[in-house]
Amino acid sequence: MSRILIVEDEEAIAELEKDYLELSDYVVDVCTEGTEGLRKAMEEEYDLYILDVMLPGTDGFEICRQIRTEKNAPILMVSARKEDIDKVKGLGLGADDYITKPFSPSELVARVKAHLARYERLVNAANATADDDIIRIRGLKIDKTSHQVWVDGDEKNLTTREYELLSFMAENPNQVFSKEQLFQKIWDMDSVGDIATVTVHIKKIREKIEMNKDKPQYIETVWGVGYRMKI
Ligand code: CA
Repeated sequence: MSRILIVEDEEAIAELEKDYLELSDYVVDVCTEGTEGLRKAMEEEYDLYILDVMLPGTDGFEICRQIRTEKNAPILMVSARKEDIDKVKGLGLGADDYITKPFSPSELVARVKAHLARYERLVNAANATADDDIIRIRGLKIDKTSHQVWVDGDEKNLTTREYELLSFMAENPNQVFSKEQLFQKIWDMDSVGDIATVTVHIKKIREKIEMNKDKPQYIETVWGVGYRMKI
């Protein structure tokens, strides 16, 4: 059963949110003052936070900022003023969603459900695989156990050689490797082919993982030397 903390000083709104969330089987705590809300947020375990921006005591900006220093659970920011929402976005405080008052309770419940489902998937994925087996470079994720590759959440199908080349470079980020070094590392010395094979494979990998293969974000060409994985 997921636990939700609401920090909202308008009691009628807080009660309405609580009622609707409880109807969906969530366990809900309410704080109507900011400093108390912050204390509860930090001391207890919640699966999701709903924070009003303007609060007596500590405001929603600060509560959001402090939660994010320690916790990964989703944060929904609520405000009657669009300027506040813009400010939260601008400050990059790490909120996951923004809702402008007035909003319909069913809209709130729908968003809560979506964020909790997403968060649960993330937590399960993190638990399922030891961190050592996962390489992450910005949007690129490589699972060394299953040999799967994702870019921004989309799985990419690489051939065995492409996978070996990409994962070798990702495990040695920022190092420049010559085509000769990469060929020796990934291909058997006596295998058919030459260093042009490396160029062909880099091109194919880029077509699969780069948004714009003419401006690679991951595998960078170091002219006259070779390639390196940018971090
Ligand atoms: Ca308020």
